[in-house]
Amino acid sequence: MHEAAYDDLGLDARYVTFEPDRGDIEAAVEGADALGVAGLNVTIPFKQAVLDVVEPDDLAARIGAVNTIDFSGDTITGHNTDTEGVRRSFAHHDVPLAERDAVVVGAGGAGRAASFALADADADVSIANRTVSTAESLAADVGPAASAHSLDALPELLADADVLVNATSVGMEEDVSPVPADALHADLAVLDAVYAPLETRLLRDADAAGATTIDGAWMLLFQGVAAFELWTGRDAPVDAMNDALRASL
Ligand code: NAP
Repeated sequence: MHEAAYDDLGLDARYVTFEPDRGDIEAAVEGADALGVAGLNVTIPFKQAVLDVVEPDDLAARIGAVNTIDFSGDTITGHNTDTEGVRRSFAHHDVPLAERDAVVVGAGGAGRAASFALADADADVSIANRTVSTAESLAADVGPAASAHSLDALPELLADADVLVNATSVGMEEDVSPVPADALHADLAVLDAVYAPLETRLLRDADAAGATTIDGAWMLLFQGVAAFELWTGRDAPVDAMNDALRASL
């Protein structure tokens, strides 16, 4: 999707993947900077460790993870565009978030990004996770807009909810959903972070219940759009990126 954007705008640029030699993320980031690379995306398992190598912006520091590095300024800055992936996925589907009740299932990397994105958009965020202590520490990090729950609480939480994000990996390996189908309803907008497969059991159940469904490719697209805009300072050609991403998925 990045190279489709470069082609669309006539930019002489490439997006390539590297693995840090011997896992040395500091040397990798400094080396990329020395080579004049415009920016980096960072993925598992380096999203936390790279915080010590860059200057994180306020949001990345609060989340505790960086997925995008920008070399264009005087300092090497770190950002978390997964939050933009969540926020812009809902905006693109005309789903308002302010003063809405949101439920996030999962409290790992995607759950952290989703919870901060929703709370920063003025939603009330209920975080349900298999390991409740992880949800509790995430809710404490997010602040008063967030609360922590077990997965058993999902039917009760969803009864009055407007927005649901699946930020667990449930639905990737097997055709199962982390949410009971009969807890879904037509007033919900459901974003599934899982993008392999695109059509998950959760989204099929949500569609059958009459809910608005947003697949994981939207979140993946918009985190990339936000990174592109940081690196180039230009508006991203969203349609070209979306077409390329969906063709590759
Ligand atoms: P992670 O940090 O490993 O977190 C995994 C989460 O899933 C944890 O909350 C974990 O609960 C929960 N979980 C795992 N297996 C479970 C099960 N059998 N039942 C209930 N809960 C279970 O992973 P992540 O990086 O957040 O990624 C989560 C998903 O989001 C993946 O499918 C990933 O591909 C996707 N993702 C998508 C995007 C996108 O742009 N679309 C971006 C990031 C991630 P515990 O805490 O109890 O272990």
